[in-house]
Amino acid sequence: MTLWEPRLMRGEPVGKPGVLRNFVGGSFVDAGKTFAKRSPVTGEVIFEVAEADRGTVDAAVSAARAALRGPWGRMSDQERAGVLRRVADELERRFDDLVTAEVADTGKSISQARTLDIPRGAANFRAFADIVTTTPTEAFQTVTADGRRALNYAVRKPVGVVAIIVPWNLPLLLLTWKVAPALACGNTVVVKPSEETPASATVLAEVMAAAGVPEGVFNLVHGFGPDSAGEFLTSHPGVDAITFTGESATGSAIMRAAADGVKAVSFELGGKNAGLIFADADMDAAVDGAVRSSFTNGGQVCLCTERLYVQRAVFDEFASRLAKRAASLPFGWPQDESTANMPLISHEHREKVLGYYDLARKEGAEFLAGGGIPEFGDARDGGAYVQPTVLSGLAQGARTNREEIFGPVCSLMPFDDEEEAFALANDSDYGLAATVWTRDVGRAHRAGARLEAGLVWVNTWFLRDLRTPFGGVKASGVGREGGVHSLAFYSELTNVCVELT
Ligand code: NAD
Repeated sequence: MTLWEPRLMRGEPVGKPGVLRNFVGGSFVDAGKTFAKRSPVTGEVIFEVAEADRGTVDAAVSAARAALRGPWGRMSDQERAGVLRRVADELERRFDDLVTAEVADTGKSISQARTLDIPRGAANFRAFADIVTTTPTEAFQTVTADGRRALNYAVRKPVGVVAIIVPWNLPLLLLTWKVAPALACGNTVVVKPSEETPASATVLAEVMAAAGVPEGVFNLVHGFGPDSAGEFLTSHPGVDAITFTGESATGSAIMRAAADGVKAVSFELGGKNAGLIFADADMDAAVDGAVRSSFTNGGQVCLCTERLYVQRAVFDEFASRLAKRAASLPFGWPQDESTANMPLISHEHREKVLGYYDLARKEGAEFLAGGGIPEFGDARDGGAYVQPTVLSGLAQGARTNREEIFGPVCSLMPFDDEEEAFALANDSDYGLAATVWTRDVGRAHRAGARLEAGLVWVNTWFLRDLRTPFGGVKASGVGREGGVHSLAFYSELTNVCVELT
């Protein structure tokens, strides 16, 4: 029997849960304690997870350090790219297991896992295999004032042991987005997935072994953040760099831990993203786009839109169309192809989101759709579902409009002109992504220039090219990854100066 039983996705009784283990130096290992991983669909325990203690994290970092000195450290870019392509092939061979793991952990729909989460895992490895083998470094022919000549050129080298810490919302996609470039650049990694989503990272460890990635190059530790595997890893003196995706507050804690060792950090953090709907937009496309950008993945994508500013002339029409769509998004089981809504990741997260629905009420919001918990009359009543929710009537300064909720909710507010729209969108502590719906080409480009966000989408949402810079401004992040920007973070450049005189 395999761990990755499809019935894990279907809410059928699981029986005795399988154990997910840490992966250190090429072997799966237990640790002292285990913790329970519950299904967000039914609340049932679906896995026991071995929580890495300090000794296990030490062993993982040591294995990663040792692997830098082994065959991995001597491979050319082309050879490593070959390994990455084998990883992508193996990910595709394990496609069904990965879908099971991801759907079981998150409760997302099987159709989303099949078309987005899992394909992006393989795509990340292929993209960075290509990027590392085709991106040159710079070279300068130098002539000095006193007539000496030299050739200066840069050589890319690995940073060393990279700690990778990721959240639960798009587990495999976000993990491989960092593992692939880190390995492409010749680093070794210790990864810590979220305690909420340990499964697909465990399959990834199996994939690494099957694809012939040398022992110790990829290590996996399970556990929590503070006083657990996350903190043991980020404060470990044997770690050279930390790349993290998660909440802004966690980013602050990790930055403090990184300060002691002066470690390089790359942070992809929270958002409170704005969408701007101008009256000249294609209204069908804008409504479709807003449904996707507010409710995809249960609103649990850092790029989701939680603030929607709508030009006054079309406000009422847009609001009523969006509310109608939100109220009719199908709740199904994850394995039903038509399912649109998914549960939140946990009951704890549901409490947080419902707390914001209550806060919105107190702050005077009108609920155009949702605001509560759906009832099923079956095992899903034990899950962590909430209704997709559309709010209106909140002041710009309301806490509901300023704090990241990370659920299927958006707040609609009117604006009169472009200047006001840009100002409202920029009035936020965050700056990850913004989305603009307009047919005016000039306005589209002005939005790109004026909006304070790492990413501006025009007439689309969540359309990604892995070669482009990705990251946030203000509290939404530090640094950029993607394409050559990932190479910049995951490698150190040595300048070589050869005198030719
Ligand atoms: P989180 O910050 O609670 O946890 C993320 C990871 O950090 C988990 O693996 C967790 O165990 C670990 N962690 C927590 N505290 C730690 C500590 N003190 N030291 C070391 N590790 C620690 O975030 P989450 O709730 O899992 O994810 C949701 C958040 O992630 C949202 O804020 C969302 O916007 C953000 N996010 C951002 C992006 C992006 O690209 N900018 C992408 C996805 C999610």
